[in-house]
Amino acid sequence: MKAKKFPIFVVMKKVLTNIHTLYLITENPNIYFLRGKTMGEPFSIKNAWLVIENEKIANYGSMDNFVVEQVDEVIDCEQGIVVPGFVDSHTHTLFAGTRDHEMVMKLKGFSYEEITKQGGGIFSTVEKVRETAEEKLLEHGLQYLEKMARSGTTAVEIKSGYGLDFENEIKMLRVIQRLKPIVPQTLYATFLGAHAIPKKYKHHREIYIQELTQRMIPYIAAEGLADFVDVFCETGFFTASESCKILESAHQYGLKVKVHANELDLSGGVQVGVKWNAVSVDHLECLGAKEIELLQNSNTVATLLPTTAFYLRLNYAPARKLLENNAIVSLASDFNPGTSPSFNLYFVWILACLQMKMLPEEALTALTLNAAYALRDFQVGSLAKGKYANLILMKSINNLSKIPYFFGENFIHKVMIKGKWVC
Ligand SMILES: [Zn+2]
Repeated sequence: MKAKKFPIFVVMKKVLTNIHTLYLITENPNIYFLRGKTMGEPFSIKNAWLVIENEKIANYGSMDNFVVEQVDEVIDCEQGIVVPGFVDSHTHTLFAGTRDHEMVMKLKGFSYEEITKQGGGIFSTVEKVRETAEEKLLEHGLQYLEKMARSGTTAVEIKSGYGLDFENEIKMLRVIQRLKPIVPQTLYATFLGAHAIPKKYKHHREIYIQELTQRMIPYIAAEGLADFVDVFCETGFFTASESCKILESAHQYGLKVKVHANELDLSGGVQVGVKWNAVSVDHLECLGAKEIELLQNSNTVATLLPTTAFYLRLNYAPARKLLENNAIVSLASDFNPGTSPSFNLYFVWILACLQMKMLPEEALTALTLNAAYALRDFQVGSLAKGKYANLILMKSINNLSKIPYFFGENFIHKVMIKGKWVC
């Protein structure tokens, strides 16, 4: 008689020892966000150890009670700091080509219209994406995601929005779905067909909105191509009432929503987002008392994108006001070729402190737990037991204030995603 074969599950155990400070953010896996001032008090353990089993956090504690157990790998952190891996809840990572040729024009003070006339602006990226084959676009995405992993980004949202027609929006979303199983990070796909009105529909915007709500959104929902639907609710792009139509359609087809809001003026985007129960409203450089009041009472996350304000020399979002009014604040990179050609969340951390006066601990919570909540993903964003072992080991620092203080240095030493070192 043949012996019955049982599958063998090999448990790989790793232990990190001698951690100066282990920032779990929260010990309780059922705490999904910290709001307002509590963001400045993330849970941490001094002189700690951490055990990882396969791809998850298994246990942790103080070195005072450390018992050596059988493990496959011991990593002596030599008094480095460990924080959860960054979560980037707002990116436009999938684009073809770059727009560095606009740099000198920008420095010389050319207007956006002049830059567009010279072959720049969002529509130049749209043209490039339309003429780029799916395979090439996939390679492009891979190349950036690899760099993002090494810079500490362990989960990434990616938007479409450079196709602006059925065929090319679907192409972008398909590429994101194909990237999901081949990169170490967790990815989330967002349909942003409402990024801009395509040139073809300049004088018939209602037809494009119908195309979005009656053709694209139903198809995307049926095929499972996106996790979220986003809309650019700004003057010159989509009005508040047009945005409502798009979000209503997303709701109807069971997709969660987010909004680009209040970057250039009081666009009504915050009101639209809160009304449609958006997971987040993003940008928020221009906020009035009404908008802050809405966010103070809401579980819609206020996602701030300081690299965009830095690159465009805009006023920064009023982070302190949001924190003082008990909003749930998160930070993201807005990585895109036109207004934030940087995916570096470590730099976002520095800008959040130096330019928006967020405390280093508040910014850390915003880049991890709260960013995960902006994607409603409860598997990432903290080092609670049972969550993915996504973490960053930082060396040569013994407190988080050194991050904005030595703003020209990068203290990231190693990055782990789902239990595996990626650098
Ligand atoms: Zn954006």
